[in-house]
Amino acid sequence: MEYETDGESDASTCISEADFSFEDDGNMSDDDYPSYDSATCRERTYLVFESCLLHLFSHTCSNCNRPVQYTLNTIGSMLQVKVYCGFCEDEWTWNSQPYLNDCTPNGNVLIAFSIIFSRSFLSKVLRLFAIMNCACISEATFYSRQMKYLRQAVSNVWKEHQNSMLTVLQVEKKPLILGGDGRCDSPGFSTKNGSYTFLEIEHNVVLNIELVQSNEVSGSTNMEKECFMRGMKIFEVYDLPIKMLVTDRHKQLGKYIREDLPQIDHKFDVWHIAKSFRKKVKKLAKRKGCEEVGSWIKRMVNHLYWAAMSSEDGDPEMILEKWLSLRRHIHNKHHGHGTKYKKCAHGRLRKRRWLKYRYSLYPVGLEPVVD
Ligand SMILES: [Zn+2]
Ligand SMILES: [Zn+2]
Repeated sequence: MEYETDGESDASTCISEADFSFEDDGNMSDDDYPSYDSATCRERTYLVFESCLLHLFSHTCSNCNRPVQYTLNTIGSMLQVKVYCGFCEDEWTWNSQPYLNDCTPNGNVLIAFSIIFSRSFLSKVLRLFAIMNCACISEATFYSRQMKYLRQAVSNVWKEHQNSMLTVLQVEKKPLILGGDGRCDSPGFSTKNGSYTFLEIEHNVVLNIELVQSNEVSGSTNMEKECFMRGMKIFEVYDLPIKMLVTDRHKQLGKYIREDLPQIDHKFDVWHIAKSFRKKVKKLAKRKGCEEVGSWIKRMVNHLYWAAMSSEDGDPEMILEKWLSLRRHIHNKHHGHGTKYKKCAHGRLRKRRWLKYRYSLYPVGLEPVVD
């Protein structure tokens, strides 16, 4: 018995009258969309060794009782056993998997689905099958199955889900508070794909995701604004007014919201501000003479979050005074901060190393004061 694999990961095995053949299941026409049987999808599957499986085919011809011949052939992950009697010419075929719409082995689609839904790397999964010497789909089949079935299925489920969420919000008739942020496939100016996600903060649900390619807009730097503008259209379609929008400090976007959407209260996301502040203080701590701020980074960032979150009505003057009180607090001075926030809200503090030098504090930066 010999076992051969082709250049990809599909394999054919031949017994006795060798009839080597390889076939992937990529011969479907575009119209052959499957009606996926969910019962078949949930059916249990097994890992079967070839020697064990062939016990099932070791009997004689049911017609003339003479020994039969086998041909094993794989179609992606499916094994096909063709049994043939050389004497009475009786023949039959056994498949290890049910067919989807009579043209695609179910397991091949299931493998492509499982790779995506388990968020696995295709190359690693294929390598796993290769190491186990287990018949599997090829890379090309994976992409064709993904294109043909999976993308459509994911898109349908998402649209249904999105529509039901937006309809619920329509009924609630409450102006929305949205959080938004953009993502790129890679940092810098060479990025090709961008997305913008809108999150409804009160229900904590993603309401819309918009995609854009850099060649659709003039350069990757314009992707975030374009993506945002496109993504906002769905709220117009569903007639959902937006009360507040929380984003990062993207300059183009800030200008656009200020000028074109003045009815929306635009706020900056404290997470982005804290991230950028932490980065700047870390850099400062590396500067000669400013090393002392290094041990204060965590406390300073916590204070920034606290200043924003502890002011229930979001009073900007109160938030600013709370934040700037840090300027005195770091020198062990806890009174006389401002007009709204006069003294620190904390109780007795444990012993710590207070800072020696004076620093000026900005919403997103810390600089030593040069006298
Ligand atoms: Zn026979
Ligand atoms: Zn204090």
